[in-house]
Amino acid sequence: MSDISDLYQELILDHNKRPRNRRRIEGTARMAEGYNPLCGDRVTVYVEVEGDVVKDVSFEGSGCAISTASASLMSESLKGKTISEAVRLFDKFRGLVTGKPPENGDGPTLGKLEAFSGVGRFPARVKCATLVWHTFKAALQKKNETVSTE
Ligand code: ZN
Repeated sequence: MSDISDLYQELILDHNKRPRNRRRIEGTARMAEGYNPLCGDRVTVYVEVEGDVVKDVSFEGSGCAISTASASLMSESLKGKTISEAVRLFDKFRGLVTGKPPENGDGPTLGKLEAFSGVGRFPARVKCATLVWHTFKAALQKKNETVSTE
């Protein structure tokens, strides 16, 4: 057992136990729900965007340790990113957990998200890790469906 995988495991356990940004963002039109029937994970993601910057990300829901930790770490990682950086980070994260990194590998670094590098060995858990990211992307795209009163 290497120290680095111990560290990663601790990070995931910690974020499952004490999820960051597990709350609702009131009044945002950018929200989406995600469901992973294979595992039973359910998540609602809230996004607040200012200009082209992701100002805040939060989530609610219940799921397994991997999905909860993924939601928590994603919310931390996306805050302050531009929308295009956020989308590229999603591509990189998906590449990490599926073992198929995007061809154009530049863009934001994964940082703590590297903790999910072991998920690829458990194909059934890949959806647990990526559910919240797909949901985030759907939440972002709500933009076009929002009716504005202004
Ligand atoms: Zn799960």
